[in-house]
Amino acid sequence: MCGVLGYYSDVVAEAAYFAYLGLYAQQHRGQQSAGLAVSDGRRIRIKKGMGLVTQVLTNEALAKMNGRISIGHVRYSAAGEPHIANAQPLLGATRHGQIAIAHSGRLVNSAGLRRELQLNGAVFQSTTDSEIILNLIARQQCDSIEAAVVKAYSRLQGAFAVVLMTNDALIGFRDPSGIQPLCIGKLADTILLASESAAFDTIGAEFMREVRPGELVIIDAQGLRSKVINAQGRPAFCVFEYIYFARPDSYFAGKNVHLVRKQIGRRLAQEANLVADLVIPAPDSGTSAAMGFAEEAGIPFDFGLMKNRYVGRTFIQPTQALRQQGVRIKLNPVRALLAGKRVVLVDDSIVRGTTSAKTVEMVREAGASEVHLAVASPMFLHPCHYGIDIPSTDHLIAPERTKEEIRALLGADSLHYLSLEGLYAAVGAKSDQVCDACFSGRYAAGMYEATQDLDFLEDDND
Ligand code: SF4
Repeated sequence: MCGVLGYYSDVVAEAAYFAYLGLYAQQHRGQQSAGLAVSDGRRIRIKKGMGLVTQVLTNEALAKMNGRISIGHVRYSAAGEPHIANAQPLLGATRHGQIAIAHSGRLVNSAGLRRELQLNGAVFQSTTDSEIILNLIARQQCDSIEAAVVKAYSRLQGAFAVVLMTNDALIGFRDPSGIQPLCIGKLADTILLASESAAFDTIGAEFMREVRPGELVIIDAQGLRSKVINAQGRPAFCVFEYIYFARPDSYFAGKNVHLVRKQIGRRLAQEANLVADLVIPAPDSGTSAAMGFAEEAGIPFDFGLMKNRYVGRTFIQPTQALRQQGVRIKLNPVRALLAGKRVVLVDDSIVRGTTSAKTVEMVREAGASEVHLAVASPMFLHPCHYGIDIPSTDHLIAPERTKEEIRALLGADSLHYLSLEGLYAAVGAKSDQVCDACFSGRYAAGMYEATQDLDFLEDDND
């Protein structure tokens, strides 16, 4: 899932700096590319590139981007390969003036929409869904940008949180099921939009509320206006935000992510019922759940694996070879702590299994007498059609194997997954209030159509 940011102020001319900080706080949501668009009221300037926020948005770049409206994006490629052409925001000149757009999520009907637009003469320069949305908006025969967005919205299916700006307005909208997060914040007279509320804390802004599923918000000189465009979606917020994606200090539906993860760990401890000497987290996303597990089980908690914090998340790196390499350079066991102990290793999830196998091996090699793997989510059995880059079940460890086969493959003494019921109880939601499709196979907003060949981008020399 990517991270988006929107900033609107009537007076402050430093939108770029605030947007930069909001993006920086959401770096964990994507590390392949970063970008910012800023309007000074006359024209929109864009700076984007491959790499981290700090690499792309330098002081020098920000100093040239005066303005009071801004949108930003950090990208993890769910649709479209990692390539400079797919870095966002995208900019277009339309009948409504310049429009910059950035998006998180995945349209399940993108192939059909792209084909239809191409048949009508559209030319694509990226393989992103954002370009499809921009084209749809630009082609509506409407007098106002608001009306054009509403009409374009009716064509979109799947998961999306979009921020869009003109030279005088900031617009945000969210898919009818609310799969992708989008929050509204306030700092004096300034309004912000962000994937996660933690972005507001960084800026000193206050969290107002989440954009509702199917809601469009428009922020301009008249203030903030809102309109629910589609109230028909069944609520399906991505439960994986609680498990893995989001920062522990973010809030969704009034719940703090760290506390939800601790609750998940407690529930897992009840279900696993293990006897052990030590609970350790798989850093960093297993930490909160491991703390809850240890508290509930009455087993000491400690940090048995130390992480080099300057290596990116292995899950987000794009190839298997890089992922494997990433694991070796990223973690180091604390032998003095692990030697001779019966260890419970708590991980947030097992998707491909590569990282978990290496981690179990590392703990064992450090001298642990037993390694029990406790997973703070149910079995990952189905591909995500809404944002995670797992196109088919071939990439998952669980679908074709029994739990015992997975345990043997990972080299653990025992393996414990959280039940679906346990997940609902810990998150405080019913099964029809969240998206849990990667565990249950119940897709609330449809599945991909047949894909189109999108291999048309030039070699990237950026
Ligand atoms: S399938 Fe899983 S990862 Fe994808 S949106 Fe649903 S809960 Fe989130």
